[in-house]
Amino acid sequence: MPDGKGVEEGRGRVLLVSNRLPVSIAPNSEPIVVKPSPGGLATGLRSVHASGSSLWFGWPGVNTEPGEERERIARALPPSVVPVHFSADEMARFYDGIANGVIWPLFHYLLERVPGDIRDWSSYESANQRFADAVAKEARPDDLIWVQDYHLLLLPGLLRDRLPRARIGFFLHIPFPSSEVFRILPYREAVLQGLLGADLIGFHTFNDQRHFSAALLSVLGFDSELDRVEVEGRSVRLHVFPMGIDAASFAARALEPDVIAASDKLRASHGAGKLVLGIDRLDYTKGLTRKFLAIERLLERSPKYRDNLRLLQVAVPSRENVSAYRELKREIEEIAGRINGAYATLHSAPIHYVYDSVDQTELVASYRAADVMLVTPLRDGMNLVAKEYVASRVDGDGVLILSEFAGAASELAEALVVNPYDVAAIAGSLERALEMDEPERRRRMRRLREKVEARPVELWANSFISTLRLEPTSLGPSDLRRRPEQVAALADELATQPELVFALDYDGTLVPIQSTPDAAAPDEELCALLAGLAEAPNVRVAVVSGRTVESLERFLGRLPLALVAEHGVWTRTWGGKWTRNIEDVTAHAWRAPVLAMLDDYCARTPGSSVEQKTVGLAWHYRNAERQLGATRARELRLNLVQILARQPATVLGGRKVVEVRPQEADKGGALKRLLGDAPAREVIVAMGDDRSDEELFRAAGGSPYTFAASSLPTHAHYRIDGPPAVRDLLARFLAKRRGHEPPSISAEQREGALT
Ligand code: UDP
Repeated sequence: MPDGKGVEEGRGRVLLVSNRLPVSIAPNSEPIVVKPSPGGLATGLRSVHASGSSLWFGWPGVNTEPGEERERIARALPPSVVPVHFSADEMARFYDGIANGVIWPLFHYLLERVPGDIRDWSSYESANQRFADAVAKEARPDDLIWVQDYHLLLLPGLLRDRLPRARIGFFLHIPFPSSEVFRILPYREAVLQGLLGADLIGFHTFNDQRHFSAALLSVLGFDSELDRVEVEGRSVRLHVFPMGIDAASFAARALEPDVIAASDKLRASHGAGKLVLGIDRLDYTKGLTRKFLAIERLLERSPKYRDNLRLLQVAVPSRENVSAYRELKREIEEIAGRINGAYATLHSAPIHYVYDSVDQTELVASYRAADVMLVTPLRDGMNLVAKEYVASRVDGDGVLILSEFAGAASELAEALVVNPYDVAAIAGSLERALEMDEPERRRRMRRLREKVEARPVELWANSFISTLRLEPTSLGPSDLRRRPEQVAALADELATQPELVFALDYDGTLVPIQSTPDAAAPDEELCALLAGLAEAPNVRVAVVSGRTVESLERFLGRLPLALVAEHGVWTRTWGGKWTRNIEDVTAHAWRAPVLAMLDDYCARTPGSSVEQKTVGLAWHYRNAERQLGATRARELRLNLVQILARQPATVLGGRKVVEVRPQEADKGGALKRLLGDAPAREVIVAMGDDRSDEELFRAAGGSPYTFAASSLPTHAHYRIDGPPAVRDLLARFLAKRRGHEPPSISAEQREGALT
């Protein structure tokens, strides 16, 4: 990991993008008053923003209709921030409705809080679009863009569309749920595709990162490495950056006289008993209900604490215009009232509940005063309160009880780690904390303090920025998808070449992938197109396929084309006969064990099938259940690579197929064989859609006309939509070559309906 020693200047700006700006406009203020925004993000990003070379994009804290008010606000804000405006209605739908109403509960595993009928997803899309417009307008080529959190999950993808070469980072501050929970989201594909627009995606914990990789496999069928996923020829890095706090400033504050005085006063007002502290935003993820029930449980079973223990619970008001939060407030006030009703004495009540925010002095004073800090969220991205408590314990005493489902638990193992859903376990931990002897308390606290001090908040931001900066930008091929004008221009350019040879893959390139190989027979349009091309002067066409001789003969045999079958085991030259290029199958000792293994996978994976070619063998899983198929394919490839380690055979992962073929057979070699006597001035146009076609691209000898009809990493120069776009390019080329005016580009093509 980079050392995180600070953001270097003079290397382009950092464009920070978060839902909220670090400063807010006070509502109804005249003249306009600008104040710091609540929340920890501003602290986390302070070091980056304060470096003087950053611009921060976000909502300015007040809703406005388009017009003069927005201009007035923009003028009142400092030049380092760019407001992204929303009306009250837009904010209610995007922020309250989708971000906090759907994504928040789902990502925190609280499925019963997700509304039955999810509406207004379009408001989330258009809010993300608005951010994308604002950022794209300002971005310069050497800027880094860093997008924050769950409000903006689509933004990296939207920015990638607009700024293909930008360096884009994304950090998720909340948990990324298990893939089984994530795939409940109706818009799961859009969210993953949106995130994959980034070059670097950061999480608080390794679990979050792991869940993200699992979601990529289960939802999109994308295989990822431990910390990387290849997508559309780009490499997206996944990495863990646990967020820290400004521990030194909490420690310094804890030693100031006003804090010490406030702490003493707090202790005195709670009597001689033990003081247990809770500080949470009032949010259903924070586990307040069960925390109160745990107090009740402890008082019930250990009467000695009844007049001797108090929970001071600060509930910071949050999202008050979301009804679930108002209901939660009523619910927990009721429980606190009931418990106090049952256990209050003349001298004290067990739960002191405060629904308000506290200032920094009160906050640090209460951390200092508490014997035990009870942090029991049902799920939390990190939880900074736990770390702040530790940082404020300059006296080296105090016990932290921490939910195992808070991100902080992955770092703070010396806390008493507890399952927050288990009321009896929380009560048990509380009792253990209250009874813990001083040496053990100090030993644990010392270790906790070392850990919190070792991760200053700047480290989080600066490590992220340095990692993003160090990531190589993979510029990848030029993207022709949804760009019919550019496809047409290339077709025109090709038509000016004196002599050409087209080397075309069949399945996935000329015809769409079908549920069975036989269903992919060529239609009349394709036959006419290939015949037209093959008959055009100074043009030769080869179809280079992994299919068998029999099926190519049946589909295309009558056309004047060269054909390559089984990746080069067989070739048919123009007007010639089939030649076998690889010796007899009996020479291939690897075939029998591979066939046995493929048969085994076929038996265990419903919908899959085994194809036996003259030499090669293939396991097709396009009709298998998607996730099962993808998982088995990955496992099969690993097994095959092992058993074939010293064999002259190659394992190939294609589109919904795992194939084993003899090493001597490859599409590139086959093309070279066909072109043995080609005049040097013949330009090669190679088109394909899977990994076996990469050999074709390489064999094209540096031709600039190589086209990948897929989103896989590729050496091709261009990425093109599937078969309709390929055919469109070929048809335009042919029309131009024949001296006809090519058909004009249709509205559907313009709108990107080419796949
Ligand atoms: N906090 C606050 N006002 C208060 C009490 C606490 O702003 O009245 C701060 C607290 O110091 C901490 C943050 O709010 O820095 C809460 O962060 P945490 O990660 O614990 O939870 P989140 O609110 O982000 O879910």
